[in-house]
Amino acid sequence: MISNISQQDLHIHTRFSLCGIMESQPDLYYPWELSEFKKKIPVLGVSDHFHFWTDRKDFEGEIAEIKRHDPDILLGVEVDFCKAIEDIILPKDLWSKFDYILGSPHNVSTTFVRHPARPEQYLDVVKTVGLKKFISLNVQDHISLCELPHITGIAHPLIVPVHLGLVDKIPHDDIAYILQTARDTGTCIELHRPTIERLKKAGNMEFIDNLVRTGIEIGTRFTFGSDAHNKADIGMPAWIEEYLLGLGLGPEHLFIPRKK
Ligand SMILES: [Zn+2]
Ligand SMILES: [Zn+2]
Repeated sequence: MISNISQQDLHIHTRFSLCGIMESQPDLYYPWELSEFKKKIPVLGVSDHFHFWTDRKDFEGEIAEIKRHDPDILLGVEVDFCKAIEDIILPKDLWSKFDYILGSPHNVSTTFVRHPARPEQYLDVVKTVGLKKFISLNVQDHISLCELPHITGIAHPLIVPVHLGLVDKIPHDDIAYILQTARDTGTCIELHRPTIERLKKAGNMEFIDNLVRTGIEIGTRFTFGSDAHNKADIGMPAWIEEYLLGLGLGPEHLFIPRKK
């Protein structure tokens, strides 16, 4: 049990995330170089990308190395999801090797391998299918993710609409539907540092307010994730901690993965 909501960060990238052409460049640290953070953030987990194109051999190497160097670091993974291929590309025999598995709605339904850092790549999809349909497809992706047996949490919920500036267009009922399904399937919803920072900058915190308040009300579990790609971004800044506490979020609402 943690005594403070800032004592968790389950979404950290390391140099093992350098597996994709669009990956941002971390300052090349290995997972076990994060030990310095463990005192302040005891629930610390790395969740490198397992993209559609990731070579599993690289990943098995990472798993073995983390266990050898620092068995106290939680071992997570961030996997892509695309309904079009009906599955997560994470080989089944790897599932049990992780303390937790974050499913990432990086892609919207039938679109394929479009990174949220390039939101304009989705605009043609919005144009083609219409805004309402686009959002409902994306919401359905979140429901599908919750229903997958190996997924323990959803990373950066609704990241695509957030990046496209469409977050206000998501009906409250859809957010509640995702939170309810997450609760009923035992899936956690991530409070994502870059999303919170982005919406704060845009002066638009209603989405996060809603997500947290409704989740607390109905009993959905959350995780916190910095999605850091460099050491400076690891953890929860004081202003976010204060903000989340103000919404009523306490350590009892956070999910703590158990070490196997
Ligand atoms: Zn992601
Ligand atoms: Zn990430």
